[in-house]
Amino acid sequence: MTDPRPALWLPYEQMKTAPPPLQAASTQGCRIALEDGRVLVDGIASWWTAVHGYNHPHIAAAVRDQLAAMPHVMLGGLVHAPALRLAERLGAITPGDLRHVFFAESGSVAVEVAMKMALQLWRNRGIAGRERFLAFSGGYHGDTLATMSVCDPEEGMHALFAGSLARQVIAPLPRDGEDRQRFDTMIGAYAHELAGVLVEPLVQGAGGMVFHPPEVLRRVRAAADRHGLPLIADEIFTGFGRTGTMFACEQAGIVPDIMTVSKALTGGTMALSAAIARRWVFEAFWSDDPAHALMHGPTYMGNPLACAAASASLDLFEREPRLEQAAAIGLALEAGLAPCRAMAGVVDVRVLGAIGVVQLAPPVDLAAIKAALVAAGVWVRPFRDILYLTPALTISEGELDALCGAVRRVVRARG
Ligand SMILES: *Cc1c(COP(=O)(O)O)cnc(C)c1O
Repeated sequence: MTDPRPALWLPYEQMKTAPPPLQAASTQGCRIALEDGRVLVDGIASWWTAVHGYNHPHIAAAVRDQLAAMPHVMLGGLVHAPALRLAERLGAITPGDLRHVFFAESGSVAVEVAMKMALQLWRNRGIAGRERFLAFSGGYHGDTLATMSVCDPEEGMHALFAGSLARQVIAPLPRDGEDRQRFDTMIGAYAHELAGVLVEPLVQGAGGMVFHPPEVLRRVRAAADRHGLPLIADEIFTGFGRTGTMFACEQAGIVPDIMTVSKALTGGTMALSAAIARRWVFEAFWSDDPAHALMHGPTYMGNPLACAAASASLDLFEREPRLEQAAAIGLALEAGLAPCRAMAGVVDVRVLGAIGVVQLAPPVDLAAIKAALVAAGVWVRPFRDILYLTPALTISEGELDALCGAVRRVVRARG
């Protein structure tokens, strides 16, 4: 008898009771072909990474060339053209003087590095007692222990570990009235202990696809300035066109002190992330004292294959009209999802950039909805009460119609 307990351990799921996962065989454009022959239109671009669709020939060629020349060398003491070139390019396209790029392999680790930069920034300046961070309710910054501590503490995924995490200051986003006051009070009360402030600009992604207007982000920037705190903008979800601009911070006209990017950085092909710092942050480490060096260094940081993929992805943003495509997707999502507003069991329908969200009234039978979506020929992964679409920016009108149509049918059938 074969052991029914699988060797492959899956994320975020009670594997014993969950329906068996679908097995993907290949991808092309905005479609995922399954081993059983079915083909699904992908509505979420593999956790928002595959912005150019799958198997883009330009990225594939860049990775193939790099694989032949040099798959990897350590970045300790050695540098190479793919990493040098990508660092220059990221510095050139990110706002203001964000120019100093530290590579890692995952989003969570980039956030960890950004947090470590903020902590060491104070130490290097000889200031003690700056050990905590202010982050926001509804936020999500990753799954590692330090990043979990700056996620929403009520968040289902992480509440379990509350006792093991650093105790951070979690404030409401300063939207209006009472929240603005509470935010101002909290940042004022804790400022002397804080190393920095972390925010997801314009969209809180994994925390529930909740949007806030640019002025909220400007208030956060202004408050951080008032209290002399570095602001970390986590653009891991929002970066690379998802909100309609290359980076969400641009819409508020603010420059964070450290920005984290990952997810769509390589166009959904390779694991790569970066924490990108402004000049003044970098300068706090640039000294004659060896102890002032940034004490971090992931083994695969700046992996040449991943850097080549990321540079090829940036080529595509330059050569092809991705931001115009994001705007067109936004209009199509607005039109395609609007009918859901009138359906029973729908709390909210919202669209920002190339993100479309249908928020459902509880109780939500996630398993049934997931099955119905697959039966309708689409790959969409609702979570909690959130059904969302974040397709590749290259998706065709017909595929987008198919996605919106499937979402409408599934939401209507549930109501
Ligand atoms: C996905 C995500 C992360 C974590 O990235 P991983 O690569 O999964 O570690 C962090 N912050 C935001 C905003 C994200 O969307």
